[in-house]
Amino acid sequence: MAPKLPIYLDHAATTRTDPRVVEAMLPTFTEIFGNPGSRNHSFGWAAEAAVDTARDQVAALIGADPKEIVFTSGATESNNLAIKGAASMYALKPAGETGRGHIITALHEHKAVLDPCKRLQKEGFDVTYLEPGQDGIITRQMVEAAMREDTILVTIMWANNEIGTINEIPEIGALCHQKNVIFHTDATQWVGKMPTDVKKDEVDLLSFSGHKLYGPKGVGVLYVRRRRPRVRLTAIQEGGGQERGIRSGTLNVSGIVGLGKACELAMHEMDAERERLFKLRRKLEETVTKALTVTQINGHPEKRLAHLTNISFGFVEGESLMMATKEIAMSSGSACTSASLEPSYVLKSLGVGDDLAHSSLRISLGRWTTEEEIDYAAAKIIEAVNKLRDLSPLFDMYNEGIDISKIEWAAH
Ligand SMILES: *Cc1c(COP(=O)(O)O)cnc(C)c1O
Repeated sequence: MAPKLPIYLDHAATTRTDPRVVEAMLPTFTEIFGNPGSRNHSFGWAAEAAVDTARDQVAALIGADPKEIVFTSGATESNNLAIKGAASMYALKPAGETGRGHIITALHEHKAVLDPCKRLQKEGFDVTYLEPGQDGIITRQMVEAAMREDTILVTIMWANNEIGTINEIPEIGALCHQKNVIFHTDATQWVGKMPTDVKKDEVDLLSFSGHKLYGPKGVGVLYVRRRRPRVRLTAIQEGGGQERGIRSGTLNVSGIVGLGKACELAMHEMDAERERLFKLRRKLEETVTKALTVTQINGHPEKRLAHLTNISFGFVEGESLMMATKEIAMSSGSACTSASLEPSYVLKSLGVGDDLAHSSLRISLGRWTTEEEIDYAAAKIIEAVNKLRDLSPLFDMYNEGIDISKIEWAAH
């Protein structure tokens, strides 16, 4: 049976809000509309109680104490607060001087990590951008080799948003604790999909966003460790002193209640969901790579998220491929910048050539993805790739055995 179109396979960009989350949020617009900061009447108390419940739900999902949860507007804000807030607090020299401290991150982090790091470089900090291996993974060893006397902060994402690869987070956490360096991880693609325990995994600061785990947009979390070590941050946004002064501003009660519910659902459902999506993703990968030559799955084959794949199709432009498969929502490995179509910096950091980076699709499955949708998507992609390759003189040359030496294909 043909599935209902269009098909959404872009869950790494955002997810549909779970209807159970929407239901939990509704009373916060009508009955529970108070300001949780209003300490002197029942409207405020009711809102505060709703926020407290959500704080417990969020903390439970990541193994934190509720006091360690700071609500923000999303992972972008959480990353900015963690990175700039820690750099400012633990700086070795005052503002205006150079040599204020060394920060370690990686080339294929999200822009919401890279841009704050670039800002800090302008403000007198040194930043090392680690190059991942060809498999896309940042190891403890890479971080250890980059550590210096003056290293004050390490920020490495848990799972990559374009290729789904998983970095050695508990190992890097242990290293940072051994060296007394603050450790932040952007866990936006990880939390709610994989079991998380900030204590055992030795994370000091952890960011994530509601809308990547079936919660609402515009709400996120920064976990801030309170013991061994007690992590302190300089506030970025100042005002009413909410969230223990770390993040001022009236709390987004609706968003927070929704995020809490999303975390509770994830806690109960993520294991079964992961198993189911893993099988569907494998089916998609196998169907597509069996039917088509010169395809390549980018990033480590096993150390990756279950629901996400990134495939390069040689001799095809990712953008043309997306145009030819319009009824399926996916992401391409190219980013439209104002002037040109740039190949993904994430794929480039893995050493994927420009051609293969341009020819890649990120396909990410989610809670409501069905087997029918995956079968349909696989057939459509195969049909479109074949059609586009029929028009490609380069592909003809390749098939005739002509050496197209500038292009390195990983042929299957
Ligand atoms: C989506 C995403 C972000 C940004 O989240 P916002 O909710 O847009 O602030 C940051 N990091 C990663 C890894 C992401 O996937």
